[in-house]
Amino acid sequence: MLKDKVAVVTGSTSGIGLGIARGLAAEGAAVMLNGFGDAAQIRKLGADLSAEFGVRVGYHPADLAKPAEAAALIEQTTEELGRVDLLVNNAGMQYVAPVEQFPVEKWDAIVAVNLSACFHTIRAALPQMKSRNWGRIINIASAHGLVASVNKAAYVATKHAVVGLTKVVALETATTGVTCNAICPGWVRTPLVQKQIDDWAARDRISVAEAKDRLLSEKHPSREFVTIEQIAALAVFLCSDAAAQMRGSAVSVDGGWTAQ
Ligand code: NAD
Repeated sequence: MLKDKVAVVTGSTSGIGLGIARGLAAEGAAVMLNGFGDAAQIRKLGADLSAEFGVRVGYHPADLAKPAEAAALIEQTTEELGRVDLLVNNAGMQYVAPVEQFPVEKWDAIVAVNLSACFHTIRAALPQMKSRNWGRIINIASAHGLVASVNKAAYVATKHAVVGLTKVVALETATTGVTCNAICPGWVRTPLVQKQIDDWAARDRISVAEAKDRLLSEKHPSREFVTIEQIAALAVFLCSDAAAQMRGSAVSVDGGWTAQ
């Protein structure tokens, strides 16, 4: 379905981003990977993806906390892979502390990566999408883009803001073939969430299994994690013609979390 399309997926060296990169590559899109990690492992990841799906795969090490690097990610993808048709803003960070103890530098870093980077990449990619009258922008927000939890001031604020940014871009592109939507996942068992489970287990002196059960029972009526593959399948759907009139949606995939 996405043959001849080029995708940029931020934060795609791990977790949900890697799953989405795989999903788009499986549909025939060339993919520019981005994110932190061991250089040799990332090279292997790219080579494996390319071999498995027969698509071109690049890697750009942009640190998305830096506006110039976020813009450079789009510029270099255009140079190397020819264009950017699909932009998935996925890179994200978490930090947990009560607001009055929240370190200022953590607040600034989370705002830069979770929110401002989405603005910078969209700003850089949109002109070429508009000029071809086709594009798909998918912002990975969160259930925390719709509802709040304690001790996550920066995460909740930035994810709500990403949902707002999504709506503005959707309206500004409403008469074009470019769409912009947000995905709002509940708990997905990636390194980002595993760290919270491990911290919880250590803090409350309970087993990791018990911490996992508490995490799920607190938020997910389904008592099950969302899988990376389920998020990737939704991203692929949002790239399809069937989703051409989904504009500015914040789509929940959260085990019932925000239905409560
Ligand atoms: P993860 O920690 O497994 O992956 C995060 C990715 O972002 C990694 O590739 C990392 O290298 C990259 N990254 C972090 N900071 C970066 C920076 N400054 N520049 C470039 N890359 C950077 O996390 P994940 O759970 O896969 O999360 C992916 C997205 O999904 C995030 O936006 C997160 O907020 C969102 N999300 C996750 C969950 C969940 O339960 N895991 C739920 C809702 C939303």
